[in-house]
Amino acid sequence: MKPPSGLWHWSPAKPGPGRLQDLDGLCKRARTAGLDYITFKALDGAQDRFLTDSQLEEAKRACERAGLKFSLWQYVYAIKPPPEEAQSFASLIERFDPAFAFIDVEKEYESSKKPVSAQYASAFRDALPRFPATIAPFGRADLHPGIDYKAWHDHGFGVAPQAYECDSSELTPAKCAQSFSHLWPAEKQWTVVGFHKGARGKLSGADIGASLRGLPVANISGWYSGEATREQMRGIGSHAGPVPVEIREPGPQTPDASIETVQRQLNACGFTVTVDGNLGPQTREALRFFQIGCCGEHGLERADGELTRETREALAWAASHGGGLGPKAKNFHYQEFRLDNTGDPRVRRRVGLAAQAYRDKFGPTTILSSARSVEHNHAIGGATDSRHLFPEHWDAIDPSPQVHSVSDVRALGAWTGIGHHAAAPQPVDHLDLRPGFSPSNPSVFPDH
Ligand SMILES: [Zn+2]
Repeated sequence: MKPPSGLWHWSPAKPGPGRLQDLDGLCKRARTAGLDYITFKALDGAQDRFLTDSQLEEAKRACERAGLKFSLWQYVYAIKPPPEEAQSFASLIERFDPAFAFIDVEKEYESSKKPVSAQYASAFRDALPRFPATIAPFGRADLHPGIDYKAWHDHGFGVAPQAYECDSSELTPAKCAQSFSHLWPAEKQWTVVGFHKGARGKLSGADIGASLRGLPVANISGWYSGEATREQMRGIGSHAGPVPVEIREPGPQTPDASIETVQRQLNACGFTVTVDGNLGPQTREALRFFQIGCCGEHGLERADGELTRETREALAWAASHGGGLGPKAKNFHYQEFRLDNTGDPRVRRRVGLAAQAYRDKFGPTTILSSARSVEHNHAIGGATDSRHLFPEHWDAIDPSPQVHSVSDVRALGAWTGIGHHAAAPQPVDHLDLRPGFSPSNPSVFPDH
């Protein structure tokens, strides 16, 4: 099962068409990267519209065309009474019917002497008693005690801490989630990560992905400020999601896990299996694809979907490591190899091992794309005989950052197909394990 992830849309442009540039392109890139929603800013306070009616309609249609959920957000100020802010947003929600909404609650509510959080929350719930709504306050509750988080919590709001590593090492996603966990369990939060490191420049997708590892959060939003890259979107789109609490790495004497636990372990690795205690065809298929990808000391090459001793041990290890492929590919996770970036994982052991060799030489690597259906491959302009195609080949990855030369990648001696940009300096953008070539004498070809 794939935990949701999405983008916040915002723009520094003046009111007008500049605030919604390249909307279809953004939605398509987001979906291709494996994201599930985009939330658009509707309101500043009670009455200042950020996007117009027609822009919100346009945004909603673009989300629908791309297969994304449409969401709205509001920044609150307490300049007008909070009940007015709540009623204005509630009426826009009723009109535009978003899947869910966020309320950005920051210093204006923190510094107010009045019970503004309780006033807003109560008025919003009078209008929309059960609508899924989430506050997005500062990253750490303990550093901003002036906001009445309990009032929001008690009125049924979720929390999306703004865990921007750009501002401070004290704002890592794990620390932020922890600071709200007295009210909201970490696995129910919607952590918001940033794409920038302040003066130090942009965070890479691999940095973002690494900061989310081991964080038991259900949802990740990237703060989009107009220039999110494909790689950054993949960094949040491939996050592992929550690991069920009952999953632990087994000790040497641990008795066999129940079939329900095995099914939860598969789900913790990104597969979609009904937890029913029945070792049926769905569970066996997931086990088979788990075995095919497993990068333990020895492969599970038989890949027959049988719950052997080796399979049980490898699965318990993977599930307790956030979906890790195995000790021989310790930097990669099954969730990074979802079919079309959105489906169940489809990865081969030899691809995992070669990816790890690449990562060991070149450093943190984001996998932009791996196994693809024919439809998805066509939609993103892949070659008709692409090595990405599942179930024909799926022995390819598109790595990022794309800055390494063909000669350096060839010298690594791990891949038999190396694609590169046609334009100088021709950095590598594709790797595969095609037959008929060897790692020392790979097929090299312009890819874009
Ligand atoms: Zn490729």
